[in-house]
Amino acid sequence: MTTTTGISRRSLFATAGAASALALAGGVPSRAAAPKAGPMRPAIYRFALGDFEVATLLDGQAVRDNPQSVFGTDQSVETVSALLEQNFLDPAKLKITFSPTVVNTGAEVILFDTGLGAGARGGGLGQTRSRLEAAGIAPEQVDIVVITHFHPDHIGGLMEDGTPAFPNARYVTGAVEHNFWSAEERMSGPTARVAKLTATNVTPLNERMSMIKPGDSVASGIEAVEAFGHTPGHMAYHIESAGQRLMLIADTSNHFVLSLQRPDWEVLFDMDKGRAAATRKSVLGMIAADRIPFIGYHMPPPAIGYLEALSSGGFRYHPVSYQLI
Ligand SMILES: [Zn+2]
Repeated sequence: MTTTTGISRRSLFATAGAASALALAGGVPSRAAAPKAGPMRPAIYRFALGDFEVATLLDGQAVRDNPQSVFGTDQSVETVSALLEQNFLDPAKLKITFSPTVVNTGAEVILFDTGLGAGARGGGLGQTRSRLEAAGIAPEQVDIVVITHFHPDHIGGLMEDGTPAFPNARYVTGAVEHNFWSAEERMSGPTARVAKLTATNVTPLNERMSMIKPGDSVASGIEAVEAFGHTPGHMAYHIESAGQRLMLIADTSNHFVLSLQRPDWEVLFDMDKGRAAATRKSVLGMIAADRIPFIGYHMPPPAIGYLEALSSGGFRYHPVSYQLI
């Protein structure tokens, strides 16, 4: 492109750049000397759902190699890599984020899951309590803590220095999940790690814990939904206020591409892989059919989006933009 004077745009810009560089060199001191501070991303996302106020809180994130070792364990590395590349993701890396949710119904403050807790803080995780405080809610103000399932990234933040992290809360969890991890025989073998954490982080709270089943309510407008498979008693929650609906799917699906576009693919962390896949199809299918927003604990922050059903039987993730105020 050429201007009427015959000087190209590029040389015009070059001239302007040289002029401003000269101006700086002419004695105007630079004040742009702040050190680079690294990536910064929003860690709290708050919006209204009818008369409720809902916020997702980023507990932290972890990166691991070889995505196929977690998602698509029954597929080839090439197949998993191809789907990642098609979706603009590094085929060699997996970023896993952790996002508990807090719901203020106006009458009660309800926290869903608690992050990894103090033990993970050295690695930059375990931030749920501090995020909650940054969102204007003191730990003492939490009335109910709902535990969707007992994996360490969900129960790790229940205790702080051996005492309850949310000192005035009562607790709600699925009876099936609680019974499974509390049974003596889980203390050895592949279940030992979670069973031991259950003994230190959940058992001391049993006196203040309500055991519920699918269809039961946590509070008015908040109902448990069967989502077994990821763990034996894993549950999702349907949240509704003043006609506005939201599904909190917890770990029903744990990757916004691999485990949504290919709900049948086996996932390392699903204890019953067939049942987890069946749960994905029913829960995700309902979300897509009803066109409602959902929160996924391991979806990319702010962990809220919508689902479009694909002809393949999978789902395309549409991250929230400005639908929720
Ligand atoms: Zn999880």
